[in-house]
Amino acid sequence: MGELRKDYVMEKFVVFPDNIKTKQNNISDQCPYCPGNEHLTEPSLVSLVIKEGMLQRLSDSEGNLIKNWEVRVFNSKQPCLVPNNSSLYTEQPLYSEPAYGYHQILVATPNHQDDFSKISVEQWANVLLVLQDRIRHLYTQKRVTYVSAFINSGIGSGTEITHAHVNIVTFSEVPPMIESTALLSHKFVNENGTCPSCVAISTESDGPRQVLTTDNFIAFCPWASLYAYQFSIYPKKHSTTLTKISQKEISDLAMILRATLGGMAHMLDNPSFNLIFQLSPEKKNSRQFHWHIEIFPQLYPLTGLEKGFGVFVNNVLPEKSALELGSSARKELAKLVGVE
Ligand SMILES: [Zn+2]
Ligand SMILES: [Zn+2]
Repeated sequence: MGELRKDYVMEKFVVFPDNIKTKQNNISDQCPYCPGNEHLTEPSLVSLVIKEGMLQRLSDSEGNLIKNWEVRVFNSKQPCLVPNNSSLYTEQPLYSEPAYGYHQILVATPNHQDDFSKISVEQWANVLLVLQDRIRHLYTQKRVTYVSAFINSGIGSGTEITHAHVNIVTFSEVPPMIESTALLSHKFVNENGTCPSCVAISTESDGPRQVLTTDNFIAFCPWASLYAYQFSIYPKKHSTTLTKISQKEISDLAMILRATLGGMAHMLDNPSFNLIFQLSPEKKNSRQFHWHIEIFPQLYPLTGLEKGFGVFVNNVLPEKSALELGSSARKELAKLVGVE
């Protein structure tokens, strides 16, 4: 069974999935996420279907695979972690524990060709609504301390399947980067009486690193961006997680995501990218921070300096990234608003 090992000293953990061997053998010519191939995945937990103009959440049952879906969620066939794990715990310095958790796939569109920079704003909103539901549901499950959500888009992003999808993976403890964000944010609030992200948002608003802004959200290239053309999207109003935002805010978030990703795709010729939802843990008494989304276009491989020392070399200043991304995203937004 899969195991989760921890470093001798550092706060790092590594998942060794149960299915390491089968991974390479499973690539077939057929896309398992396309309509008509529903039998190639696990049964759907949610199939979002539009019936008479209304959204309905259905799920597959034995002998009945729901067709004509807009969004479809199921358990991954190649999970990083599984909920019925019987591997053993071992002690330091060779610490390991069962890689216990859920790994679900949310297919974002029935159309194989439409990636996240091409689906409609309405479809993006459907994706976010279903994602909110899934996160809420998973937090009610046993041994779920953190629910992560992220997108690997394009072959260079680490995915084997190019059909647009979101990964939802749970952990029985808070992952190290989220823990450290929460800890540092908490420390800043204690020392300064204000949230560091609220400060950053007011600093970046209408400044040289702003990419795009809507009623409720702002996209900007961070002051100390690690990667070329990296950008973040924050709710302007302090909020700790995606599950707390309203339907109206979801529509607005869908708009800024679609406009910035569309702009990035035009400008950088459809790069592979990773999109990460940085959400506060939702368990009681956990430390919270200002939630946001980070987008990392995959343009250059990491070098020894980054891997060995945690020091990044970025050849594109965030001011230049923001200028170019902003111009392209504004054109995209004008088109989106124009056709709606
Ligand atoms: Zn497909
Ligand atoms: Zn804040």
